[in-house]
Amino acid sequence: MRAKSVYTPPKPLALHKLSQIDIDGRRVEIRLRSRPRRRTRVMLSYHPDGILFIDAPAGTTERALRILIFRSEDWLRREIRKFKNSDHVVYPSSYKTGSTLYLLGMPLKLQVHQSSSIAVQQLNGTIRVRAPLNSSIQTIVHDWYGDVANSILNESIGRICSNTSLLDSVPHWSHRYMSSRWGSCSSHGTMRLNTHLVKVPQDAIDMVVLHELCHFKQLNHSKAFYSLMAQHMPDWKQHDNTLKKYHRLLQEEFV
Ligand SMILES: [Zn+2]
Repeated sequence: MRAKSVYTPPKPLALHKLSQIDIDGRRVEIRLRSRPRRRTRVMLSYHPDGILFIDAPAGTTERALRILIFRSEDWLRREIRKFKNSDHVVYPSSYKTGSTLYLLGMPLKLQVHQSSSIAVQQLNGTIRVRAPLNSSIQTIVHDWYGDVANSILNESIGRICSNTSLLDSVPHWSHRYMSSRWGSCSSHGTMRLNTHLVKVPQDAIDMVVLHELCHFKQLNHSKAFYSLMAQHMPDWKQHDNTLKKYHRLLQEEFV
């Protein structure tokens, strides 16, 4: 009589066995983030604090991860080298006292204090967060950035609209966290900006806003589009280069 095959669920990850690796003598900490919404692909991202973030769908086996890490060794080596002499701005690897956050291109130190209620205050080069124990400081800070974006982006759009006369009135607009673009606009006349924009210098914000406003006149990235950009902001390329330094901010995962 043949034995009935019994389904064995994948072995849960034993993280204590897979907590760090050494790449050319450099210790890289491995942090696994379980992503219930992630269905198929495991994503690796390297943070210059010496952390390899692994975003894996539930049920990923330790064996699969080991193989993936083994195969990604060259990629990881390149990532480490890329960050070595770069002036790229990165998101904090954790939200705790001493972490660096950005507002309008300025680095600010995060201070976290325990409190019975939630409050966020920007003061003398710091962002002070008061929150009950076990709160998600990342969520609180991101909500705060959202509030700040309402006023900073609103001011920028209003100012550029009135200075350029590109449009008769301020277009409908909104902002939200996006992972691949700083802004977009639709043929229906709606502009969407990335909430992360509040972290970059004001000139770079204005450049993105102008870029999207010019699209209301020129939908493509044609010659006419860029001459419209240059007409209203002759040094837009310089601000575009500044913005490139902040691109890694978009890669932050929301836990
Ligand atoms: Zn564009």
